[in-house]
Amino acid sequence: MEQYTAPIARLIEEFAKLPGIGKKTAQRLAFCILDMENEEVLNFAKAVVNAKKLTKFCTICGNLSEAEHCNICQSAKRDKSIICVVEDVKDVAAMERTKDFMGVYHVLHGTISPLDGIGPDQINIKELISRLTGDINEVILATNPTIEGEATAVYISRLIKTMGIKVTRIAHGIPIGGDIEYADEVTLLKAMEGRREI
Ligand code: ZN
Repeated sequence: MEQYTAPIARLIEEFAKLPGIGKKTAQRLAFCILDMENEEVLNFAKAVVNAKKLTKFCTICGNLSEAEHCNICQSAKRDKSIICVVEDVKDVAAMERTKDFMGVYHVLHGTISPLDGIGPDQINIKELISRLTGDINEVILATNPTIEGEATAVYISRLIKTMGIKVTRIAHGIPIGGDIEYADEVTLLKAMEGRREI
């Protein structure tokens, strides 16, 4: 990158840190920034900083939120007695795209993965259990159908069953080894329809 000035080389380096961005694309993006008007560049930089600064996690469900509680938890239209447990905030967005689920969510922010040193205490399981004191009709385990996702679902189902609450697992309309985040609406709908008690 000697052929570039230090500030440009630095910008290319930053872009290249993003997933799916190779050196070539990073260079193209950096030069795209150079072509922008000053004001445009400032707005772009501000959007990046604000997205990080102004985004919090809902203190109830762990979803992305601007306020203490996210829009879903705040909505009177959502059935608080049905909780859909997902691994990641991106899975909430995917589920919401089906426009079919009217319950609320719980975001684990990960899965149990002993090989990576992630135990039940490192993800939001305690927070989930403490939510189950009220009127809860069903907990749907919508973790990914991966080894870690399955193990996490089994672990949680055992905990919740002792509380006498109905626990279901989404069906594998989603391929094994797949990712909920990238599933299309129909596949996700099928997976939700075919959920079963575990
Ligand atoms: Zn929430």
